[in-house]
Amino acid sequence: MRLYTHPACLQHDPGPGHAERPARLRAVLQALDQDRYAALDRVEAPLATREQLLRVHSAAHMERVLASAPATGHHRLDEDTLMSPGSVEAALRAAGANVAAVDAVMNGDCQRAFCAVRPPGHHATRDQAMGFCLFNNIAVAAAHALAVHGLKRVAIADFDVHHGNGTQAIFEREPRVLFVSSHQSPLYPDSGHEDERGSGNIVNGTLSPGAGSHEFRELWDIVLLPRLDAFRPQLVLVSAGFDAHRNDPLADIRLGHEDYAWITERLVTLARTHAGGRLVSTLEGGYDLAALAACASAHVGALMD
Ligand SMILES: [Zn+2]
Repeated sequence: MRLYTHPACLQHDPGPGHAERPARLRAVLQALDQDRYAALDRVEAPLATREQLLRVHSAAHMERVLASAPATGHHRLDEDTLMSPGSVEAALRAAGANVAAVDAVMNGDCQRAFCAVRPPGHHATRDQAMGFCLFNNIAVAAAHALAVHGLKRVAIADFDVHHGNGTQAIFEREPRVLFVSSHQSPLYPDSGHEDERGSGNIVNGTLSPGAGSHEFRELWDIVLLPRLDAFRPQLVLVSAGFDAHRNDPLADIRLGHEDYAWITERLVTLARTHAGGRLVSTLEGGYDLAALAACASAHVGALMD
């Protein structure tokens, strides 16, 4: 089991008071510093290449992000998506971690990998940075698996509390990718309704504000996991956001860290059944530092078992 990260991911700073702050990644890495995680094979994330990014992003978007880091202070791409001097390298390492993790599981260097990186990715569309996201890391990973490893069926499971609108938009006409998401509705970015099905390869499951462990597990057990199982993925990718925790300030779902261990065990089983165990997970949201640390360590612990 590998852990991909890079110190550059701490240098992306959206500014004072911003929820998606460097302390998030520090909290995750500190939690993974305990003895229980000593067996993790820690690997420095490489930079994503232009070719890898252009599989899912327009050249205009890629060049805009690469050119938008200010020399000092902050540059605003949208209402809540900002760049600092360190943002370009952080974004390239975040996407690059995902590509390297796919290569590692496909080449048999490891069976599973977690990318402890930021900025997150699942809101970034082909042509737009949004929702704290610059490049769509998990989409870059999936496109790499299709293009370089020749896979025919790649599943993306997204349990972040927000809908992964960018991932959905990038793959809604790509039948080799199945995108399955649980998220709160209504909530930012106001997409992910159950009637959004792409070309039959998009499955959205919504949770009402106030929903908790029971509703979350029922949604995955009855609706989402059976769809993943029927797809028989050759590789399982996970957009791992931990903002459905009950203490998270950005949403109103009431999960505990044990629910993240539960869904992780289910996804590991799915990968074992169909994908030779191959699973790559990447950090998306999670904005209460203590909850994020507890949930991410529960997730990684379940990936190591
Ligand atoms: Zn989120």
